[in-house]
Amino acid sequence: MKPRVAVIGGGWAGCAAALTLAEAGIAVTLFEAGRTLGGRARSVDIEGQPLDNGQHILLGAYEQTLQLIDRLRPAASPDGLWRLPLALNQPPDFSLACPRLPAPLHLLAGLLGARGLRWHDKLAAARWAHGLLNDTDTSTHLSVSQLTRSQPEKLRRLLWHPLCVSALNTPPDMASARVFRDTIRAAFGGRNHHSDLLLPRRDLTALFPAPAAARVIELGGEVRPSCRVTTLDAAADAVTVGTRDASTAYSHVILAVAPQHLAGLAAAIPQLEPVLHGVAAFAYQPIATAYVQYDPAFRLEKPLFALTDGPAQFVFDRGQSHGQPGLLALVASAAANLPADWMDLAAAQLQRIARPGPPRWRKSIVEKQATYACVPNMARPAVRTAHPRIFLAGDYTAGPYPATLESATLSGVQSARTLLEQL
Ligand SMILES: Cc1cc2nc3c(=O)[nH]c(=O)nc-3n(C[C@H](O)[C@H](O)[C@H](O)COP(=O)(O)OP(=O)(O)OC[C@H]3O[C@@H](n4cnc5c(N)ncnc54)[C@H](O)[C@@H]3O)c2cc1C
Repeated sequence: MKPRVAVIGGGWAGCAAALTLAEAGIAVTLFEAGRTLGGRARSVDIEGQPLDNGQHILLGAYEQTLQLIDRLRPAASPDGLWRLPLALNQPPDFSLACPRLPAPLHLLAGLLGARGLRWHDKLAAARWAHGLLNDTDTSTHLSVSQLTRSQPEKLRRLLWHPLCVSALNTPPDMASARVFRDTIRAAFGGRNHHSDLLLPRRDLTALFPAPAAARVIELGGEVRPSCRVTTLDAAADAVTVGTRDASTAYSHVILAVAPQHLAGLAAAIPQLEPVLHGVAAFAYQPIATAYVQYDPAFRLEKPLFALTDGPAQFVFDRGQSHGQPGLLALVASAAANLPADWMDLAAAQLQRIARPGPPRWRKSIVEKQATYACVPNMARPAVRTAHPRIFLAGDYTAGPYPATLESATLSGVQSARTLLEQL
């Protein structure tokens, strides 16, 4: 059978996989159950504006994702991402900014220059961070709280633990110290710009999934939104993909659904049993985003601030990033015990740094299974499965990062390349 590949799932992993295959000249069909491409990082329409299912932020170290976004951007269109040197502003308690020095000097200089820390704490932070960047044997079974045990309480509360929650979307007492270390290393142990924060300037679907799909179609591929795959029938010579309307045989399939949706498709395929068994042990963590529209004349002093002592960890000014004046996004990660009045509590956190006046409208989006909990000793599956015609892609497959856009795009590209090597 001539290679003909079905990619199931139009999140960032599936879009990256479909694009890689189409660019290699393979006939590809991308199936997406939802109306909008992007999966857990997609555009949603609220109050007539393109918003996102959750405010996202990228790191300068996300090289695969940044390269894909940049490569698909039409020459004349403005940059879809706003690059900011790393700064954590948490008034009135704490602020840290990394200057443009070679890494990791920029982190050490940032820590030594941080406001709100005593000299003793600054030195402790710089020494510890240096040790972490050079560490080779952080045990796989340690949690982040155990890793940071030797650090002063103030540093854990203001710096290391908020970083853990926002990077791994997992509370520090549950989060993997090894993955935390690797993320800190990726951000601060390479080039200076790897620790930059990148804010999307347009909605998430427009940033990558939509241009990727357009390119797949341009190259002769097919993209089928609102088309849920309901059955998979794997034989030795082909895999038959069933939807509500049709059954079609493909030479290969890339399963690019979220881990919690794998069993629904793959339970009848014995070769995928070990993967399903491993994924059944995953736990999930929510992320909540509150969009609050204030007077359009209102703006924060900076495009984002860190928040403490409440459910939200960050507030973003979408007026500055997206041209949506007066619209703020407040984000609560690892939000398993989110109180019903969380938007009121987050508004009170905001009051400590700004006086935006009364809101005109507000909307909370809680993604209950935003990411898997990134815990110690996780067994993440490889993109190659025991079935020679079925591959995996998704942020949960084995890779250096926790559940992020970078994990998703890396896995999509890697899955497609592994398949291509086998042809
Ligand atoms: C609120 C929120 C905030 C986040 N913040 C950040 C952040 O700031 N930075 C960051 O890097 N990451 C962040 N993440 C994580 C990031 O969004 C995910 O890691 C990434 O989007 C996962 O992509 P994926 O393609 O692996 O999976 P998914 O996005 O889950 O894609 C799977 C797709 O498969 C589709 N599908 C499922 N079943 C079927 C079927 N039977 N047939 C057809 N299609 C099917 C789904 O509809 C979905 O579109 C956040 C996630 C959330 C939810």
